[in-house]
Amino acid sequence: MRRLEGKSALVTGAARGIGEAIARAFATAGAFVYLTDIDDERGTAVAAEIGAAATYRRLDVRSESDWQRVTAEIVDRHGRLAIVVNNAGITGFEEGMVAHDPEHAALADWHAVHRTNLDGVFLGCKYAIRTMRRTGTGSIINISSRSGLVGIPAAAAYASSKAAVRNHTKTVALYCAEQGLAVRCNSIHPAAILTPMWEPLIGPPGPEREVRLQEFVRDTPLRRFGTPEEVAAVALLLASDEAAYMTGSELTIDGGLLAGTAASPAGEQRPDVRNGFDRA
Ligand code: NDP
Repeated sequence: MRRLEGKSALVTGAARGIGEAIARAFATAGAFVYLTDIDDERGTAVAAEIGAAATYRRLDVRSESDWQRVTAEIVDRHGRLAIVVNNAGITGFEEGMVAHDPEHAALADWHAVHRTNLDGVFLGCKYAIRTMRRTGTGSIINISSRSGLVGIPAAAAYASSKAAVRNHTKTVALYCAEQGLAVRCNSIHPAAILTPMWEPLIGPPGPEREVRLQEFVRDTPLRRFGTPEEVAAVALLLASDEAAYMTGSELTIDGGLLAGTAASPAGEQRPDVRNGFDRA
């Protein structure tokens, strides 16, 4: 079904992972997609693979002038921008394992994560609203995380930035409604989606990698990683007119991780858990 026929979309961090899957899904659904990223080589290659329904532009989400340049070009070429997906995000562990706990994290590392994950989403929402105001309609989708809903001791800046994205989403939704705009803003909260972001944590191919993969999803009720395509399906719903009454909402896509506190797959009930909630 061509659920996004005639719409133009901008996706940040679209050169790989979840952003790439969202860009591909949107193009398949009939949208014209601006893939944006700071990895120009890969972004250009993915856009070329998608074909006539996509193009690549460099857009560092931390740079206000990049946002101005790319959104102005979209207005020039298409007259409107219907969908913005603020997807680009970093964990802070890209260059190796540095301290990100609340006691030892360096202020510079804390700021670096917030600059991409939070300032980037702030700018993305700002320029989305300004551009969408032209038609009075649009869908802004912010990729937060399961980590925006719970604390993460070893990744304080990531968790803080993603929590702020969750809340800013609701502020944007209310602001747009207050302004009389049919511009919706919603957040998606994925957990454990197998993308290149995980590579530094999982390690090189081999039997140990398999063990580590299993270890990471041990507490996930569905006992597997999710796929970028599964997140893209949720983004597609929020981008489409089928979600016209959804704004300020948050959707988790986490294999059931946040559904409870002590889920055990069938047949592996722990004998010490009575009634399923005595540890809550
Ligand atoms: P990836 O690291 O696989 O892809 C992120 C992309 O964003 C990369 O191409 C990266 O480029 C790009 N990027 C990084 N910084 C910037 C920037 N300043 N401006 C523009 N682009 C940038 O990540 P995922 O696909 O796994 O994650 C996408 C989003 O989903 C993130 O916001 C992440 O926090 C969130 N998320 C992911 C989960 C998961 O399990 N994968 C779970 C929960 C949330 P480069 O490679 O050059 O740095």
